[in-house]
Amino acid sequence: MAAIHQAVSRRASFLVCRLHSTYVRKMRYLNELKEDDSLCRQAQTAGTFCLFHNLSPFLQKVGKKYLVPQISAAEMKRILEIFKETEQWIEKSVLIGCSDEHTPHFALELGALEKSVIESELKGSFTDLRKALFVVDEKDSPLLASAQALLRWHASHQYCSKSGQPTQKNVAGSKRVCHASGVIYYPQMSPVVVTLVSDGSRCLLARQPSFPQGMYSALSGFCDMGENVEETVRREVAEEVGLEVESLQYSASQHWPFPSSCLMIACHALVRPQQAEISMNSLELEEARWFGLEEIVECLKRAPGSSKQENGSFLPWFPPKQAIAHQLICEWVKQQTSQPA
Ligand SMILES: [Zn+2]
Repeated sequence: MAAIHQAVSRRASFLVCRLHSTYVRKMRYLNELKEDDSLCRQAQTAGTFCLFHNLSPFLQKVGKKYLVPQISAAEMKRILEIFKETEQWIEKSVLIGCSDEHTPHFALELGALEKSVIESELKGSFTDLRKALFVVDEKDSPLLASAQALLRWHASHQYCSKSGQPTQKNVAGSKRVCHASGVIYYPQMSPVVVTLVSDGSRCLLARQPSFPQGMYSALSGFCDMGENVEETVRREVAEEVGLEVESLQYSASQHWPFPSSCLMIACHALVRPQQAEISMNSLELEEARWFGLEEIVECLKRAPGSSKQENGSFLPWFPPKQAIAHQLICEWVKQQTSQPA
């Protein structure tokens, strides 16, 4: 009997192993590339490249779709030859992932080369990231966002802040080292909380002065040094709309490249209905108000973008579905509609 049990459990762990092996092997391989410069240099010759020009990604339009082309190392070499550059240029690239078959993917900044030449050779165009994120396939947006963030980080960390000496990236681009002072720099993100405040039957949305006309979103703010997520949520809600959070619940997180590499941490926060009078901080916000379920549902049907009314006002609309605030609003609607009346 024990032997059968052992056989069953061996079979079960074998299955689990098989289920996870592609992912685990992929992560282990990427980690090796980050740690081993010569292995990574070798991988670059067999890898594919996602191109950027002054941090704008290269896209190709095929029919109505925008694709993020993966340029082969051979094709990269051909392009570099046009500019009389050697293939050592490829070492400027940073590792951004790999396929299930372990073809490594890199991102490469080509800002020093003539943009129009690359565009006509590769039949596509370098597109502003803010636009690119909303036109490419959903699976490609996070890749573009993190690739650009990593390239941006390298561009702005060329020198050591302790000794002022130049820093050098490892081949994968997972860190920079100052050989003069021995300091190692790792790419960083700033944590930001995005909070959807509810009083049980309504939710609170606000406008920052920089928002496009008519757009309302959840409250957001950077974590202060030493704060945990709960403390940031409570402080931001108090600061921005003068309400005290009773309870909060984490929802999800997302990397966001603007203004410069943030980790967006999305939460739902509940305030007491009796205390739900907003006292808005006009230094941070232009408007903050409660929305009922019906109005929220109407706004969600509206396509993102300003639409001016005859009286000069704008109909409210919410960030597009790629933004985590949109997800919070949809979750709130789901929660409201699944509650017994
Ligand atoms: Zn240094």
